[in-house]
Amino acid sequence: PFELKGKTVFVAGHRGMVGSALARRLSRENVELKTVRRSEVDLRDQAAVFDWFAKTRPQVVFLAAAKVGGIVANNTLRGEFLYENLVIAANVIHAAHVNGAEKLMFLGSSCIYPKLAPQPLREDAMLTGPLEPTNEPYAIAKIAGIKMVEAYRSQYGCDFINVMPTNLYGPGDNYHPEFSHVVAALIRRFHEAKVSGASNVVVWGTGTPRREFLYVDDLADACIHLMKTYSDEELVNIGTGEDITIAEFARVVAKTVGYTGGISFDPSRPDGTPRKWLDVSRLAKLGWRASTSLEDGIRLAYQAYLREQKQAAE
Ligand code: GDP
Repeated sequence: PFELKGKTVFVAGHRGMVGSALARRLSRENVELKTVRRSEVDLRDQAAVFDWFAKTRPQVVFLAAAKVGGIVANNTLRGEFLYENLVIAANVIHAAHVNGAEKLMFLGSSCIYPKLAPQPLREDAMLTGPLEPTNEPYAIAKIAGIKMVEAYRSQYGCDFINVMPTNLYGPGDNYHPEFSHVVAALIRRFHEAKVSGASNVVVWGTGTPRREFLYVDDLADACIHLMKTYSDEELVNIGTGEDITIAEFARVVAKTVGYTGGISFDPSRPDGTPRKWLDVSRLAKLGWRASTSLEDGIRLAYQAYLREQKQAAE
């Protein structure tokens, strides 16, 4: 096992939903946490990243920095998603290697798997077929990061590993009405409908796609577990092992929020990939499983949304 105790640990992207969950989880480990704000070190700036790593020389790196968003953000900001995610991965992985990091974890995404790969998605499905077009730029950048980790393992012997989280949600999510992911979008939309007394809420697409949702604090726990215990070239999926249709999911959110009106679907909005269900048997063999149910997770995420709204208004 890899000892985290006493190490200097850099979380890249600590202001984001995933990075902040990692920082919360790491506060329970005996480590020296290192973070940087974008105003100090912009991870897209190669010289700034190389300087900071040379000065700081973190022993452990969690690469959770990325430009992310929901289906419309991915499909619209295609250039930004490709460029920013490529350079962040290239800068941080290379700097970690050059400055002797003992271990690095790269966070990929379940969207790196082919659109029509057999379900549940096994780790070896990567690069076996065409990607879902709406998030192809993001997926290509993530695949490049994964391959960079693999190449640095094989050429330089770096102990760098790749994990593939499923769709995530929780505190610190982005609630932008157009660019957010479905969980944050629906929490906000159902909440606002409840408050205004609206009688209908529109959910994008047909409601038939299936998605798997993992609470971000569970993800952080899995990442710490794998950082300590896993050291191999193969990717490791991180999910719950269960998925749900968007229509059913919308009902869970409505119930949690306390919205009692109607729900309709807008098929003029994109469905995206029909199903994205991870095979988590490798993760289970490695000794980890999710502990937060979807109902509990959505309740916690709704509480976080209310808290964050209040803070933003203050
Ligand atoms: P994806 O997993 O990359 O497709 O990411 P999203 O979280 O953006 O979308 C997941 C699914 O939820 C897709 O089938 C969307 O069509 C559906 N969906 C339903 N309503 C919404 C919404 O208001 N926002 C988003 N982003 N997706 C929605």
